[in-house]
Amino acid sequence: MSLAENIQKIKSEIPSQVKLVVVTKTHPAEKILEAYNVGHKIFGENRVQELVSKHEQLPKDIEWHLIGHLQTNKVKMIASFVSLIHSVDSLKLLKEINKCAEKENRVIDCLFQIYIAKEETKFGLSFEEAEEILSSEEFKQMKNVRIAGLMGMATLTDNQSQIRNEFKSLKSFFDGLVIRHSSFIILSMGMSSDYKIAIEEGSNLIRVGSLIFGERK
Ligand SMILES: *Cc1c(COP(=O)(O)O)cnc(C)c1O
Repeated sequence: MSLAENIQKIKSEIPSQVKLVVVTKTHPAEKILEAYNVGHKIFGENRVQELVSKHEQLPKDIEWHLIGHLQTNKVKMIASFVSLIHSVDSLKLLKEINKCAEKENRVIDCLFQIYIAKEETKFGLSFEEAEEILSSEEFKQMKNVRIAGLMGMATLTDNQSQIRNEFKSLKSFFDGLVIRHSSFIILSMGMSSDYKIAIEEGSNLIRVGSLIFGERK
């Protein structure tokens, strides 16, 4: 199947309240244009340099999401155009995003990346750390960031019930925050291998790459 058909297929199978981020990392701009030309406008990259260069090359009405780890010193490179940062994992990073967004005279939507996997390599905040940031005076003073929700990645495993339980725990944390924070509307969970489980467990934003483009080299 073509790239466009792959995207259409996923979109036709997911509930209408779930949005698809097409993850374009490692794929050239002309491939992304193929998806754009059939009407898809939300794309995700995990590296800042690649995000910047693709933003320069491609139509300006694309909604670019940063889904990978963000270093503080690189925030300024994306602050003028990024639509959603999925990977906020420290107060220090959030402060820098707020500062850069202020210079650009805009509000940047962010998600807290929450660590739910049983793997040592993944980034993210614990539930407690996320709560601490939300209740800090520093955060309450920030006018140029909005925490729109949470992102989490499940453990890379064949154990479906483990994946499901990790998503369940994030959804239940999310539900608790929604009551207290009106800005919380997005729960970003699920990739090619586990997006169906993620949707069953309450995801409303999935990030899919290899299922659309084929395996990355
Ligand atoms: C690469 C990546 C994805 C997409 O992974 P696939 O398995 O190719 O669908 C989703 N989320 C993040 C954070 C990624 O880095």
